Amino acid sequence: MLSYRHAFHAGNFADVLKHTALVHCLEYLVQKDNPLRYIDTHAGIGSYRLDAFEPNKTQEYQQGVALLWQRQGLPAGLARWQHWVQAFNGGNSLSAYPGSPWFAQQILRPHDRLELCELHPKDIELLRRQMAGDKRIACHFESGYTQALALVPPIERRGLILIDPSYEVKTEYAQVVAEVKSLHRRFATGVYLIWYPVIEARFVEQLVRGLKNSGIKRISQIEWGLGPGFNEGKGMNATGLLAINAPFTLMPCLEESLNYALPILAPDGEGYVKLETLAGE
Ligand code: SAM
Repeated sequence: MLSYRHAFHAGNFADVLKHTALVHCLEYLVQKDNPLRYIDTHAGIGSYRLDAFEPNKTQEYQQGVALLWQRQGLPAGLARWQHWVQAFNGGNSLSAYPGSPWFAQQILRPHDRLELCELHPKDIELLRRQMAGDKRIACHFESGYTQALALVPPIERRGLILIDPSYEVKTEYAQVVAEVKSLHRRFATGVYLIWYPVIEARFVEQLVRGLKNSGIKRISQIEWGLGPGFNEGKGMNATGLLAINAPFTLMPCLEESLNYALPILAPDGEGYVKLETLAGE
């Protein structure tokens, strides 16, 4: 039973990090003409209205996209994310926030392909409606864990895999490690972005240690907190990404973007930005 609904969290600070990184990597990859495959293992619905019940109940987007979407003078990485958020809203009011499939749909070219996996029966229908008519896109009503394994290596031999689970079930931290190892065995040159929440130390450690000890090379860790970090029982105030084979420009881009956004989103002076190389060349 899936109870997580991303609509409660759309446009929050975790989405800012995740989607800034996604936009940066995809825009980097499309600089080369060769076709590309995008696989989104946990796609969501692609578009979230911010005047709906869910985002208004949590108000999380107020400490995220609402503070940045019209701000002038953003550093380059955030400015590219902002460009797409503004294009999605198309006017002067922030009425909705795009999901990862929408960002990828905009950036990818006619000869690229997108594979979107979503396991919630209502959300897959909303996603299909959102993506209807785009022949580059396949929406799979399947677990992203099994579907992604069936899709790699892609014939293009170039691709980005976004792994963005909700971690509703705590065994998912171990499942993600096993999944990435299996995917990487089949598609070692792919770019991987793996999102995680910073709530309970033992689970973050399990994920980070699992990947660090996997033998996989070129792994970076990016963590961003609007508060002190581990916050068991009190909700998420920090978030992270693990990136494998990311463009060399990703870390400087995120360092600049997150350090810029931190005092805007967390003006009380709490919070942190952490960037580490977990495994080198
Ligand atoms: N990637 C989206 C974005 O950035 O806009 C947000 C995804 S949200 C964090 C996680 C989504 O995964 C939810 O819509 C949930 O229904 C879906 N989900 C949960 N388990 C899944 C699985 N095993 N396979 C595919 N989707 C799953």
